[in-house]
Amino acid sequence: MSRRALARVGSRRIATLAALLAFATLAMGAKRPPGLGDVSDVRTWSYPTFTRVVVETTRASRGALRHLAANPAAGRGERLYVDLPGIWVGAGVDPIRVRDGLLDGVRLGQNTPRTTRLVVDLSRYSRHRLFFLSAPHRLVLDVYGPRDGKAGRPPPAVSPPGRKPSPRRSVPVPSMSVGRLPLELRPVQKVVIDPGHGGKDPGAVGLNGLREKDVNLVVAKDLAERLRARGFDTFLTRTGDETLSLEERTARAEGAQGDVFVSIHANAARRRGAHGIETYFLDANHERHALRVAARENGIAPSALDDLQRTLADLRVGEVGSYSQALARAVHPELIRGVKASHGSVRDLGVKRGPFYVLFLSSMPSILVETGFVTNRSDARRLGSRFYRNVLAEHIARGLSRYRSERALQLARDS
Ligand SMILES: [Zn+2]
Repeated sequence: MSRRALARVGSRRIATLAALLAFATLAMGAKRPPGLGDVSDVRTWSYPTFTRVVVETTRASRGALRHLAANPAAGRGERLYVDLPGIWVGAGVDPIRVRDGLLDGVRLGQNTPRTTRLVVDLSRYSRHRLFFLSAPHRLVLDVYGPRDGKAGRPPPAVSPPGRKPSPRRSVPVPSMSVGRLPLELRPVQKVVIDPGHGGKDPGAVGLNGLREKDVNLVVAKDLAERLRARGFDTFLTRTGDETLSLEERTARAEGAQGDVFVSIHANAARRRGAHGIETYFLDANHERHALRVAARENGIAPSALDDLQRTLADLRVGEVGSYSQALARAVHPELIRGVKASHGSVRDLGVKRGPFYVLFLSSMPSILVETGFVTNRSDARRLGSRFYRNVLAEHIARGLSRYRSERALQLARDS
């Protein structure tokens, strides 16, 4: 063997050794490159039609999602993965077992010294939704399965190890989707009411120290009572002065399995003259004003607006969007009519499209009602009065009744 060949073999050996060493240090979590962020939390929530995975990181990181088909020969199931640059988990975090019929589990590992890979092992899959939020930085991945065994692709046939895969093997639809009709067939019975903010988050603070969180809660509780009197079932995301993270808030809402979601808020503006009522539904096509309101309600700085818009660019509102719009168009005019009748005048700011996190984390038809400006003298006086709050609750309830009737008529026509 020539010297040159020897050197080549030698260097290859060294390269292999270096790779092994790199892997070993990675596996032991020893050598951490500088300047990386950490994974601070991983959570999953299982709902009737989807599973949500949230990975919280100490710095912003974005990656595209890839889908891998099942490879029964290699003993690998269908999975999704996202690479997160600039994030360190070292030896990894313990795999999370989900096993809810949709997701098998969630794993995180160091894929390269500067990239962490999130792997989601799937049991069933039809589509997903991925977006990135800030404050705190996190990835939110919603994985949807075939609904009631009708939509989407059939579940993959993954055989236990050691057995030959049989492509005809049928996998029973898990019981989690039983008893839950799809959106277009469901009558409106249960209303999830979300009093915005709470606890450490006062929301907008206006004239005479009027705090939005207090106004929202009073109106929401009153609304719940009036809805129950009309035969609705209700659920409140909070019933006291409680701090709720966005995920906790929406986890409660989704867990309640409501048919519609109504978030109650009050507005604020730098311009003291701004006043009136506006109702939002989720849509990526929004105007500049809606973006400002959404930034405030989402708790993000105006400087993070670009990030919000990027998130929205990835967002597909889907079928739920048209129901949300119909819901807004049923509630808003009723609310304006009611306030006009009781108070003589009201500024109708209209039904608008806006990028609100709380709305796009919801799988129900959803609206967000801005009941007035705490920063405007006349609106603040109204919002502080019991009479005005009663009028708000009464007419939002009437609007919801109207939506329920519209949906019932439509269902009767379609059947
Ligand atoms: Zn608010």
